[in-house]
Amino acid sequence: MHEQVDKLLINGTVVTMDAAATVYTQGAVAIRGRDIVAVGEVADLQARYSANQVIDCTDCAILPGLINGHAHVPMSLLRGMVSDYQQLDVWLFGYMFPVEGQFVTPAFSYIGARLSCAEMLRSGTTTFVDMYYYEEEVARAADESGMRAICGQTVLRMPSPDAPSYDVGIERARRFIEQWHTHDRIIPTIAPHAPYTCTDHIYHEAMELCAQFGVPLITHLSETSREVQESRAERDATPIGYANRVGAFDVPCIAAHCVHATEDDIVLLRQRGVGVVPCPSSNLKLASGVAPYDRLIKAGVHTGLGTDGPASNDDQDMFAEIHLAAMLPKGLGGDPMIMPARDALSLATSRGAQAIHLDHLIGSLVPGKRADVIVVELNHLHSAPRYTYSPDTIYSHLVYSVHSSDVRDVLVDGRMIVENRTLLTMDEREVMAQAQQIADQINVFLSSREENLLDKILAIGGVQQAEIFEIQVKARVTSADIERVEAMLRDPAIRVTKTSERMQYDTYFLFHKRERGRIRIREDRRIDPGARMDTKYTITLMAEADQGEYPYAMLLSRARYTARASQTLRFYREYFHPDHETEIEKHRRRWRILYKNKDFAINIDDLVGRQDNGPFLEIKGRTWGRRDADERATLIGELLERCGIRAEQLVKQEYVELEREG
Ligand SMILES: [Zn+2]
Repeated sequence: MHEQVDKLLINGTVVTMDAAATVYTQGAVAIRGRDIVAVGEVADLQARYSANQVIDCTDCAILPGLINGHAHVPMSLLRGMVSDYQQLDVWLFGYMFPVEGQFVTPAFSYIGARLSCAEMLRSGTTTFVDMYYYEEEVARAADESGMRAICGQTVLRMPSPDAPSYDVGIERARRFIEQWHTHDRIIPTIAPHAPYTCTDHIYHEAMELCAQFGVPLITHLSETSREVQESRAERDATPIGYANRVGAFDVPCIAAHCVHATEDDIVLLRQRGVGVVPCPSSNLKLASGVAPYDRLIKAGVHTGLGTDGPASNDDQDMFAEIHLAAMLPKGLGGDPMIMPARDALSLATSRGAQAIHLDHLIGSLVPGKRADVIVVELNHLHSAPRYTYSPDTIYSHLVYSVHSSDVRDVLVDGRMIVENRTLLTMDEREVMAQAQQIADQINVFLSSREENLLDKILAIGGVQQAEIFEIQVKARVTSADIERVEAMLRDPAIRVTKTSERMQYDTYFLFHKRERGRIRIREDRRIDPGARMDTKYTITLMAEADQGEYPYAMLLSRARYTARASQTLRFYREYFHPDHETEIEKHRRRWRILYKNKDFAINIDDLVGRQDNGPFLEIKGRTWGRRDADERATLIGELLERCGIRAEQLVKQEYVELEREG
């Protein structure tokens, strides 16, 4: 008596990835509806079942669909956008956030997710875990593609493309979860981005939401060593310890990366049942490091594998990630047995399913689980010949020889999604054409930004846009001149409103094309007794100075933009990549004065470590209007005469130009 099933896959090497690591070299899988009904020897299953559709898998392996445990799938649209001479912060704050702020819309998330789903399905991935913006669009694309997904609506404390503030982000996540939580294949959730971009409150709210709907919490933890250092300094805990403290592990948690998990962290991750998902390619490409794969597995931590976003990988090929996860621990550990091929494969199948808290449904070919199955060809040059004397040889083939392009068929929930290398749920060419349209727009944006320093500064935020005229005159002075300046400042015609003494350390970024202007990063430290001691950091874009038609060798410059410099000098160097750099250190005494009801700054500067080190007198005035600039120029002339500065003492160049030209 034959039992009826929908599909019977026969004659393949069935790699079940079950607890006993069962392999059937002449195997078969029976599928009814969305479930696996039986797995075993071909002869046995053919004797028991008759199928509506029999799929011959001769010369193929039949495996559980691969699980991509961490991704940002819409970022496929940013693939290859940034060349790799930036560190993570420049990559993230200099490029990804500004471009995302400008371009990420619901359509962006949808089209990017479609491109990624197509790519993942064609390379054997049936389930992915995502975190991004407009996550309902990712969910829609995943659903239409036929994939299984856990979709996390990203929340961070700063404004994001889909939420001007984090509370709006949390509210978006709640609505998204409410709408999707009854879906059979798509699990909606919330993803607090990382400890360094979130707050205790965000993690707490996210945890409550996950608890309410019974969905896992997704976050990034301990990706870089700097993140761990800063976390210890600021929160007296590693990022993993912090996540535990703020409740992120009180619900099932999926923690991406954990590259720099400490021994204590690893114990904690195991005790709290946290799923850990390192992303080998991304961790290498961004030089974040290599996760302790073997130690995680040995400690019993539920460990998976992910691709991370395609902007830092740059593909979403889980076979490539498995390959790296097998190789890296061996090379670094000096032990070829440290990560057997079967363990590496488990990270994207059975262990990967545990890591994303779906092992009751997927991750192995076991009766009762969902029929997420892939068929991989083994009859290509790079897989020949084959040995079958031991069932274990198949793992070496799958991990070290097989390419993702060998994937022939893909089933999710028993439904054929890729058949004989053809994607049935999407038109691949249409998806690629839509992706290219968006890339073309970003291309125009970036190429004009690279030319325009102002756009580049504005892109990283916080700049006070202040188009002003600055009129300035500079003179080389003697100590006798300085005495005359000080005497002038005691004149009742002049009112001193503020005085200060400071050290200023300026780094100038200079460019071959001088019309682009130059960037000055200034560290400004008050040294006069009683002054507040906190150092100020500013970044200023200065346009090339015009030589005005004024007497006294006055310089007129316009269009200066200044902001507090919140990033490091290295960040700015990598972000702007100047053609030259010059440093100027000076001791400055400064007086702010009112003269004939207009305000001016008078500086006496000594440059440190320069041949032409001064001292110099500077008189400066700033204004919004051209006519006022003319009036101030006249008054500066009067001030110069009052302290007896002669024409031959005047210096036309700014400090940054003095040494280069002289
Ligand atoms: Zn990520």
